[in-house]
Amino acid sequence: METNKNELYEYDESFRDTIATVDEAGKRIWMYPKKPSGTYHNRRIIVTIALLGLFFSGPFIKINGHPLLLLNIFERKFILFGNVFWPQDFFLLALTLISFFVFVILFTVVFGRLWCGWACPQTIFMEMVFRKIEYWIEGDANQQRKLNKAPWNTEKIIKKGSKQVIFLVISLLISHTVMAYIVGKDQTYDIISASPSEHMSGFIGLMFFTGLFYWVFAYFREQACTVVCPYGRLQGVLLVKDSIVVAYDWLRGEPRGKIKKEEVQTAKGDCVDCKLCIHVCPTGIDVRNGTQLECVNCTACIDACDEVMVKVGKPKGLIRYASYNSIQDGVKKLFTARVIAYSVVLSVLLILTSFLLFTRSDIDVSIKRSKGLTYQKTEDGYLSNLYNFVIINKTFSEVTVLPKVIGIENAYIQQVAGDQIIIPAEGKFEGVFFVKIPKEQITTGKKEVIISFTMDGKILDKVSTNFVGPLPGSK
Ligand code: SF4
Ligand code: SF4
Repeated sequence: METNKNELYEYDESFRDTIATVDEAGKRIWMYPKKPSGTYHNRRIIVTIALLGLFFSGPFIKINGHPLLLLNIFERKFILFGNVFWPQDFFLLALTLISFFVFVILFTVVFGRLWCGWACPQTIFMEMVFRKIEYWIEGDANQQRKLNKAPWNTEKIIKKGSKQVIFLVISLLISHTVMAYIVGKDQTYDIISASPSEHMSGFIGLMFFTGLFYWVFAYFREQACTVVCPYGRLQGVLLVKDSIVVAYDWLRGEPRGKIKKEEVQTAKGDCVDCKLCIHVCPTGIDVRNGTQLECVNCTACIDACDEVMVKVGKPKGLIRYASYNSIQDGVKKLFTARVIAYSVVLSVLLILTSFLLFTRSDIDVSIKRSKGLTYQKTEDGYLSNLYNFVIINKTFSEVTVLPKVIGIENAYIQQVAGDQIIIPAEGKFEGVFFVKIPKEQITTGKKEVIISFTMDGKILDKVSTNFVGPLPGSK
């Protein structure tokens, strides 16, 4: 009879009662992860260089002369890949964000927390920038422990001081780049090149972000992922047994045990219980306990274990990217019912967003009949109503439009100032005009009027409003 290897040993589930970074008294345990190295780490260095290059050069990249990304929450103006979005396009932005979230969910269901380990700014800066500086100045985990316990001598002051200065400089760099994504690079330059009193809010913003980044990377660290990050918290509901995660092959590894010369090794699994996978983990967990909320998929344990496997003459991959089901049953299944359902929802959202994006008008018009006024009769047999209007130009170039009443014979628009409405690039135009309609056309006291706004004969937008006239029977 075949015996399931899971039945050969009992799991110790006590790890579920504690967090690796907090002791029994509730005090934080400072993490000293061992310096990672190996194939996956080298790949992550390449990805990090590419992503950091993109992040720091982003504010300087332009598409058709406009920023790649601008998230100006103060002026409520957003630019994504050179396309400007105004508050009037909020539904489009909301749809884009919903599509993004569905994409993140779909991606997580299939690939687990790949994002966290390879692309999340928190992990990239923490593990690939700040932690590396720490290793460079203070040495590996054991040397860091020793230095922290040592009295404050010259060496410690120089090492600790220079590390904090470098941390602060990098935090300054990050905060200025983030500011450039919010208000644009030119405005950021204006803030930093003038005296703080001239741009007090910008200066406070920069100092706040610098302090925040410094605090997160110098002190808060992995707590951002394990305690604060909502994406990390969502893993419990997003991950399924077919999701690909950094996983320990318990069938191959157990029963774990140290190698002893005199012992027959065949009774044991491949895990030699060296605990290196725990020592390199930046969140201090034991990956052998299964998928855990704290795992940021940094791959450090894969590299550490592969190195051990090579040393003991076993195949690599005891810890690897794998799904629970692929380890348990040897079945790799990507297209589960859940994945198909999310893909359908995502496709519908993307089609809808693209349709709205490509058909959205270049201008946005709002019209209101002037308050407190009804109608006037003119000597040439017309009735007139006065309207206030606002036109927002959503493009990067000046727009000249001509308003026109459509569908009512001999009706026309008389502008108060000039014939043309010229709206500056990314700007708005506020004005008033009269709509004039022959009085015989108004038979019920009220009529719906549709006004088009054309540029070079092309209708850019159409709006509907009400026109009032005398009630039937009145003179
Ligand atoms: S590094 Fe590999 S061999 Fe060592 S304890 Fe972890 S899983 Fe076992
Ligand atoms: S368990 Fe492995 S992949 Fe997960 S955070 Fe720890 S070292 Fe990184």
